[in-house]
Amino acid sequence: MVLHDERQEVVEACQYLSDNGLVVGTAGNVSIRVDDRVVISPSGVNYQGMTAADVVVVSMDGTSLDGGLKPSSELPLHLAIYRGTTHSTVVHTHSPASTALSTVVEVVPASHYYTALFGGSVRVAPYARFGTDELAQNVVDALVDRTAALMSNHGAVLAGSQLSKVLEQVPYLEYICDVQLRAGSYGSTVKVLGDEEIQRVLAGLIGYGQESAR
Ligand SMILES: [Zn+2]
Repeated sequence: MVLHDERQEVVEACQYLSDNGLVVGTAGNVSIRVDDRVVISPSGVNYQGMTAADVVVVSMDGTSLDGGLKPSSELPLHLAIYRGTTHSTVVHTHSPASTALSTVVEVVPASHYYTALFGGSVRVAPYARFGTDELAQNVVDALVDRTAALMSNHGAVLAGSQLSKVLEQVPYLEYICDVQLRAGSYGSTVKVLGDEEIQRVLAGLIGYGQESAR
């Protein structure tokens, strides 16, 4: 099977999202770019029964190259990110806190220093209908110098160079959105970290993992 390992990775990533409540039903989608081909989850297939053969391989213009199923309806989003950035893997979720916060802010306030994990304050891409080129462009714009963006009234998208690393970041994005929602509902002004501090944290995160826990 063409690109078997990448297809299997996509299957396991979809199952991870489903098992951890980061998508509802068959929502959400995952892809990996391999040179001029994109391996992407199929549209509307139950994640628990999904196999590598169900995962679709398309060219950079969206033409189906292998796999009999329809690719995810967000294929234009994934292709636009690959054309417009250097990222080589994309994960799209409908996780609850990220989606809820996308309806009330334009940028996720930096109420937690984990904001630095995404390169700085996470922007919210303006709403456009799912599957459209307009939505794809809005998300590409929101991802400039970032590895995550929210999609207004819809969900979240994360991108990077390695699927396992991007998946690890999904719960952190959900966490900072959840923290902001809880803090914002308290009724007092939420203390927010400045850009300079976020950049200092970002510098400190490089090499993190070889130091003691903090
Ligand atoms: Zn979606």
